[in-house]
Amino acid sequence: KPPISIPPLLSRLATASANLPVLPSPDPLCFSSVPSSFIRFWVSRLLQLYKRKAFCLLISSFRTSVLSLCGIYHRYGDSHCSPCQRVIVHLLLFSSLLSFTNPTPSPTQYEQSQIISRFQEYLRINTSQPSPNYKKSTQFILSLAESLSLETQVIEFVQGKPLVILKWPGSDLFLPSILLNSHTDVVPSERSKWDYHPFGAHIDENGNIFARGPQDMKCVGMQYMEAVRRLKASGFQPKRSLYLSFVPDEEIGGHDGLEKLAQSDVFKNMNVDIVLDEGLASPNENYRLFYGERMPWWLVIKATGAPGHGAKLYDNSAIENLFKSIESIRRFRASQFDLVKAGLKGEGEVILVNMAFLKAGMPSPTEQSITILVTWL
Ligand SMILES: [Zn+2]
Repeated sequence: KPPISIPPLLSRLATASANLPVLPSPDPLCFSSVPSSFIRFWVSRLLQLYKRKAFCLLISSFRTSVLSLCGIYHRYGDSHCSPCQRVIVHLLLFSSLLSFTNPTPSPTQYEQSQIISRFQEYLRINTSQPSPNYKKSTQFILSLAESLSLETQVIEFVQGKPLVILKWPGSDLFLPSILLNSHTDVVPSERSKWDYHPFGAHIDENGNIFARGPQDMKCVGMQYMEAVRRLKASGFQPKRSLYLSFVPDEEIGGHDGLEKLAQSDVFKNMNVDIVLDEGLASPNENYRLFYGERMPWWLVIKATGAPGHGAKLYDNSAIENLFKSIESIRRFRASQFDLVKAGLKGEGEVILVNMAFLKAGMPSPTEQSITILVTWL
């Protein structure tokens, strides 16, 4: 027999380890207490390993590896290995076992391609304001929910604007629930300014996906779904009920969707303790959490002063008075922006301020002063 080369052998091992079931870390969130979840995790892991005969494949693969590596096995058998060869074999076996005991193996290539296709499918639904295709997005979410055996509810607080709520019931109905919220609508796009169709979900050779709305925030909605899929596949059962809400109109204020939900009895009955919602897009595996991130504060500054006439110079004009306020806010804005530019803080970690509207030249009722309104966000 010709000796088997190492690279195909390693790829076989990689395939074997990738095919292992995806399991949660010993204590995901705070669904269960540490000791019992830890024991449950390892028992279920070992059972699944045996079920899939992963260890058998591991051992047989390494036996082949040993044979090819030592060469002399073919002719003389085990006892003729040199001490050096024995050390190499043991190191290989030990490192392989370590890789098998990694508690969070990544999804297989097949699983990854399925995840990406589901994400693309969602991106291809044109849910851009002002006329999102809610019918298609609702159907899509419901079909995913069905594949995950989640309870579903579609509510139209305002006709034509469906809000989808999915539920994974917890084992302890007395505990408050967790809500994972995302919005289905996206902002508009101008086709002529795009390299690829904004609803084509094209993937380039580097793996970049081009579409309107992947970051804001269809990727988050899909991450919730995929997280549920992985947890369910591992046999995980949450103690708290888990809700997923897909709201229709965040990009135009959320008045007909989340706002109505928050005021409803439906929401009261959900007994929600914590909500995760939109945040900053993340280029890596980390998901940063903020509380009260970018709470809006609309500030209106009203400046009054003496009205002018032609090119006449005069003191105490409305614009002069206004500039004092604008300048102090401008300086504050620059100081915050400097922190972002220097890389010391992210955009979500500073106070953002922008001048949104300026209305000038409004005569007062007595026509004795000029009013200038500036609105900041
Ligand atoms: Zn958003």
